[in-house]
Amino acid sequence: MHGIIHLLPDHVANQIAAGEVVQRPASVVKELIENAVDAKATDIKLIIKDAGKTLIQIIDNGAGMNVTDARMCFERHATSKIKSAEDLFELHTKGFRGEALASIAAVAHIELNTKQETDELGTKIIIEGSKFITQEPKVLPKGTSFLVKNLFFNIPARRNFLKSDNIELKHCIDEFQRVALAHPTIGFTMIHNGAELFNLPISNLRQRIVNTFGGKTNDMLVPIEEVTDLVEIKGYIGKPEFAKQRRNEQFFFVNNRFIKSSFLHYAVLNAYDGLVKETLQPSYFLHLSVPTQSIDINIHPTKTEIKFDDEQALYAILRASIKHSLGQFNVAPSLDFERDNTLDLPYTYKNKPSETPTIQVNSAYNPFKTNEKPSKLSLQSWEEVFQQSNQASNQFIEKDWVVGSLFNEENETEVGTKSFQFQKKYIVSYTKSGLLLVHQNRAHQRILYEQFIKNVSYQNAPSQKLLFPLELKLTTEEFDYFLQIQVTLTQFGFSFDVVENQRIVVSGLPIDVSETEVFEIFSAVFDSFSNEFSSKEFSIAEKIAKSLAQNLALKTGKYLTENEQEHLINELFSCSEPSVSPFLKPIFKIISTEELEF
Ligand code: ADP
Ligand code: MG
Repeated sequence: MHGIIHLLPDHVANQIAAGEVVQRPASVVKELIENAVDAKATDIKLIIKDAGKTLIQIIDNGAGMNVTDARMCFERHATSKIKSAEDLFELHTKGFRGEALASIAAVAHIELNTKQETDELGTKIIIEGSKFITQEPKVLPKGTSFLVKNLFFNIPARRNFLKSDNIELKHCIDEFQRVALAHPTIGFTMIHNGAELFNLPISNLRQRIVNTFGGKTNDMLVPIEEVTDLVEIKGYIGKPEFAKQRRNEQFFFVNNRFIKSSFLHYAVLNAYDGLVKETLQPSYFLHLSVPTQSIDINIHPTKTEIKFDDEQALYAILRASIKHSLGQFNVAPSLDFERDNTLDLPYTYKNKPSETPTIQVNSAYNPFKTNEKPSKLSLQSWEEVFQQSNQASNQFIEKDWVVGSLFNEENETEVGTKSFQFQKKYIVSYTKSGLLLVHQNRAHQRILYEQFIKNVSYQNAPSQKLLFPLELKLTTEEFDYFLQIQVTLTQFGFSFDVVENQRIVVSGLPIDVSETEVFEIFSAVFDSFSNEFSSKEFSIAEKIAKSLAQNLALKTGKYLTENEQEHLINELFSCSEPSVSPFLKPIFKIISTEELEF
């Protein structure tokens, strides 16, 4: 009896694997250029025809391969870059999976010419759809040339789904620019249908950016440099007045590898808050160096997404150093680097005389109805931010768009308007890039926290007068704390009639606080003070805001109507730091379409 399970022939397995690595001509461009960089080339030429659909050639002057390696490199899992799993934590090369060439060879016609410095003769190999055709010795200069013709010749469906030449070319240019900007010490040229699109000589980063994006770019660049134990940040950011409609001048490189990271992106946007219009995008070209052990770049086949050990700290450092640079170069009001920036007054308010809090009585207060200012960034526009990035430069969540748009053009404008609650803990909605899960309690903490901080810094916290003032008896210790924070509490909207002998009479409350919550809130605030070792580290106002937010935020277990869910999501994404709670816990999670796939 024969079983029914058998191993797939290599060429079939390769073709399946190719689906992951090679989605379009630009994927080939990326893999081959990266191989040339890994081979230590100092000069790399990219020549394409018809946006890469008919031909992609990459010529480098790197190390080259000997006769055996030239043949081996097309095998799956053939790599010279790692030997054991441990090496994954010490990566200094772009590639390491040994998949790219096997995948490309499975779906195209390939000619490889390569020679190592020490070899007399080079070698030429022809492979078509994983089928080895010929290998022969050839007189060649040192280095490697890969010629990839007729991409997807054996997968007509893929070929038919390629976009117009304009769009595919744009993708190739994106990949080219990403590697070129990561490696200014390598010379790059790009030629399309005989026309030279880029000629980038070896230079420093600034010149590389200017050569890539044109002479005018020079005026807009502000340097950035920040060295900490955790990360070294170097690069340039664009002056606010040069902000663009599109996101095609936004680049993060981590250890010289281009990466996509929406959380880093928001750290930058946050630093520009108030300096650029919300519809515009600041340019940035930022190189981050982190210890190789502190990141995991293994989470995606094309390695454009990585996982950092300490995202919160990275976020804070990046934001602060950008604010610092903007300040230093006089493009933003100067901010003191050592100070807590969350509490910086907007500069138009700096000289405003302080006012007594205005009193409003609002007994019918409903946290979801009142206070309804137009959101800075609704869920929908937040969606657009993500989508624009896909369409404009493909820079952030490319893979979803690529997969989606290859097979379903209409879906592109789809935006999640419906939501539901899961376990009375998460609000589930969807975005173009996948499923969105929002932690309701933490989201509300963030919203309240920012609201409080804003009120305090603008000195206009709304307050409600109590018809029946509340009397509190405090312990000596509590009364002591109280005296230290009394002034700050009034900035939040509290008012006090009597303060004497451990007795206080509360006559007014911040608008978000109800009478029944007062006792609890005071004991929480006092607790937070007795728990901190050094109260200097955090400003008093920030600590009170945190404590209030924690106590007042709607809890896990609370039922929310669909309107309330939507309102909460909109408010969250109009916050300046929607991704983490005031206690640095993650607020939302996106499960990408790709992760969901089964
Ligand atoms: P990876 O880059 O993950 O190792 P690839 O399939 O891209 O896998 O390449 C396989 C191997 O072929 C590489 O590890 C390298 O040894 C060799 N190679 C590929 N391209 C070049 C090149 N341009 N110059 C020299 N060696 C190369
Ligand atoms: Mg490679």
